[in-house]
Amino acid sequence: MEPFDYLAGYPRELVEAARRGLSDGSLARGLLARYPGRHGVRTNAALYGLAQELKQRHLRRAPPLAKVLFDERLTARESALGLNSRLARVQGGRLATKREIRIAGLFRDLAPEFLRLVLVHELAHLKEFDHGPAFYRLCRAMEPDYDQIEFDLRLWLWLRESPAGAGFPGNPSAAPGVP
Ligand SMILES: [Zn+2]
Repeated sequence: MEPFDYLAGYPRELVEAARRGLSDGSLARGLLARYPGRHGVRTNAALYGLAQELKQRHLRRAPPLAKVLFDERLTARESALGLNSRLARVQGGRLATKREIRIAGLFRDLAPEFLRLVLVHELAHLKEFDHGPAFYRLCRAMEPDYDQIEFDLRLWLWLRESPAGAGFPGNPSAAPGVP
């Protein structure tokens, strides 16, 4: 199966540099050095608390959150960052009507910066339906480093699914019992 193109839309030089880093191992080393932490958000209640904290700080007037939860059935592609725009629109619609945020279960095991980033992304959808300029302005207001962390998260997800990323934290083949 062709690896999913997590880097679609990024400038060619960046993608080429990432490919070189993938083959010589510097990409994995760099990401691990940059994002060494693991967060302690294990439960849906803790996840709700974190989302609520971000919302109180930045989106106080947005409608209240009904539910925030980890969803083990969601893959990174389906949930993160509108990687699939069609699904993202469906997800945006669901958010608009149910004010519910679902985060792929794999984010339990990623760095705190990445979990926060997807929460910021989904919270921004409380106000902005589409991935337009207003949406990204809102994301950057909540997380000034939004663009860099989003790019690094895409690299992380790309690396973890690539054969060169076997043994990389979160790599599906490194986890026993996960197909
Ligand atoms: Zn989105």
